[in-house]
Amino acid sequence: MPAHDLVVIGAGPGGYVAALRAAQLGLSVGLVEREEALGGTCLRVGCIPSKALLESSERFAEARGGLGAHGVRLDGVALDLPAMMKRKDEVVRALTRGVASLMKKNRVVVYRGTGRLDGPGRVVVEGPAPVSLQATRVLVATGSRSATLPGVTPDGDRIGTSTEALSYPEVPRRLAVIGAGAIGLELGSVWRRLGAEVTVLEALDRILPGLDAEIAAEAQKAFQKEGLRFALGARVKAAGVEGDSCVVELEGAEPLRADRVLVAVGRVPVTDGLGLASVGIAVDARGRIPVAAGFETAGKGVYAIGDVIGGAMLAHKAEEEGIACVERMATGHGHVAYDVIPNVVYTSPGVAGVGKTEEALRQSGVVYRKGVFPFLASGRARALGDTRGMVKVLADAATDRVLGVHILGPRAEDLVAEAAAAMAFGASSEDIARVCHAHPTLAEALREAALAVDGRAIHL
Ligand code: NAD
Repeated sequence: MPAHDLVVIGAGPGGYVAALRAAQLGLSVGLVEREEALGGTCLRVGCIPSKALLESSERFAEARGGLGAHGVRLDGVALDLPAMMKRKDEVVRALTRGVASLMKKNRVVVYRGTGRLDGPGRVVVEGPAPVSLQATRVLVATGSRSATLPGVTPDGDRIGTSTEALSYPEVPRRLAVIGAGAIGLELGSVWRRLGAEVTVLEALDRILPGLDAEIAAEAQKAFQKEGLRFALGARVKAAGVEGDSCVVELEGAEPLRADRVLVAVGRVPVTDGLGLASVGIAVDARGRIPVAAGFETAGKGVYAIGDVIGGAMLAHKAEEEGIACVERMATGHGHVAYDVIPNVVYTSPGVAGVGKTEEALRQSGVVYRKGVFPFLASGRARALGDTRGMVKVLADAATDRVLGVHILGPRAEDLVAEAAAAMAFGASSEDIARVCHAHPTLAEALREAALAVDGRAIHL
């Protein structure tokens, strides 16, 4: 029976990164994955293919109408959807192959099949080449799957999840998106740019729950200008196919007809069929695996990270946990800075935030100061031709320590990294304001927002 210091179940960003780090630290590592491609939902049917399509669709929309102001005239712009999809598939293929070669290089042994705990210290792999593994430690990193809605039965075609929406064979004339979270807004944007009439149905009275409310409200206005339609307070009761269209039933409102329906109402942990009971693990009411410090579960020698435990369901959060978990195993130390995990929505304009939202600070009674800088006043944003949005810095009124940074605007996803780094080092708004930022860059907007905390932004 093959034996390893560590067997990781699940090769998503949490699992494969943990496997690599453990191998770097000298552990003998086995990695079990049931899908042919490594990389998990993120690489195969999540973050990466959606970003490829967001990029392509944005170029199409720009070529069709956005370049005139730059003095670039294009005639006869046409969509080649199969080519766009092929490029997306190639991006995914290159990256999943890259993960496989990293495993080889680091001597991580990959076992193809479905892994299951079979009592302490043993993992059974079922699949084309069944095998039993002996494991000193096991790390469960099996991730999540799309949540379903009662009354809405995905038919794997017209009513589906993000997986289907990454590969529609044609541009739907009317697309109904259920849920105004990251998935609904990102994929809704893709199909809107490619020509679909997109209606986003959201049960709450706002979009992007969990993100800063002011930024989310501004984002909604910007998305509306991009042509997305929103129905807020619209709770979906049921959806089904009737003849050649789909009908979405809403609570207290007229039903909506669409050609396709994208269900994007969150994700649920994948913990079934894992043999958790064989090592004494019971999942909580939401199917999550409870963990203590160091990601230890109730099962001796069994650890869990990422979407199967609590917290934000984000690839980079899972990676951090994977690294911290195996570093702790190998060295006794490992830490995740949960307060500074950035959250990004890759729309146009983009949305990004790190730290506390304004609502959270108000609710917890923290006295804070706020500095806002609009991209309208940024030279670089003007040159770019995209002045939508703003940067908002929230700092403790007494100590000036930065507690949250929220961004709506061009390249928000990259700008937030500076804010996260500053916050990880305990920066004050004054610290950020005193750092020389290259001119002209979008990053200057963060510095200006930091200056604005003290009422002394230069370009406002
Ligand atoms: P989400 O939880 O972010 O949003 C789901 C939305 O659906 C919520 O606003 C909710 O109120 C709404 N909803 C639920 N039931 C409804 C109903 N019956 N009718 C109408 N609306 C309803 O979920 P998501 O967008 O599906 O994303 C899933 C997970 O994946 C999240 O944890 C998200 O953070 C993560 N994700 C992150 C990114 C990113 O970081 N860019 C991208 C994709 C997914």
